[in-house]
Amino acid sequence: MKKLIQGIVDFRKGLTEESRELFAKLALGQKPDTLFIACSDSRVVPNLFASTNPGDLFVLRNIGNLVPPQNSNDDSASAVVEFSIFSLQVSDIIICGHSECGAMQALLHGVDSNCCSHLESWLKYGKEALTKVRKGVKINPGLSEHNQLSQVNVLQQMEHIKSYPFIQERIAKKELRVHGWWFDIAHADVYCYEQELNQFVLIDESEAEHILEGK
Ligand SMILES: [Zn+2]
Repeated sequence: MKKLIQGIVDFRKGLTEESRELFAKLALGQKPDTLFIACSDSRVVPNLFASTNPGDLFVLRNIGNLVPPQNSNDDSASAVVEFSIFSLQVSDIIICGHSECGAMQALLHGVDSNCCSHLESWLKYGKEALTKVRKGVKINPGLSEHNQLSQVNVLQQMEHIKSYPFIQERIAKKELRVHGWWFDIAHADVYCYEQELNQFVLIDESEAEHILEGK
């Protein structure tokens, strides 16, 4: 906690005139164009690896970057999805998984339901991905089992978000795109899922161009 508090003091001291103006402008409203769905893991920092500023991303973070499907009774994550579409009218939704994810380990090895019944219940939204991996579905066979599950889980959550009729409608009208990303912690690399290759491809300059061409 000490680092956090000192960080606030340092932030106040280091705030430039430009940043003050940005925050003053943002106080009047937000217009992010992207909903970013990521894991709660402390090592996944989208503002850092995507070089984003305040106001750029609307963010949903939870254990395992899971999206409850439309027919679930989970209001929290679904409310974020609704707000991002109906109030903010985002044009892109990114579901970003990551390597060494504790949620994927928990899915693989189970959770102690005596202490962590909420966690156990929440992870049900990752169960279909687990079933697929157990049946032999692989995207990158070179990865460890939990990292394979993490990649398959990104695709599973993309399916979940497409279960909302208003999402399907906007995709059909080409007003919205849903992307699957994967962050490799050890190498600080970000990958984007390319359906035609059935692979996560490193987002370098040429892949960035490819992604943006699809806009
Ligand atoms: Zn995680």
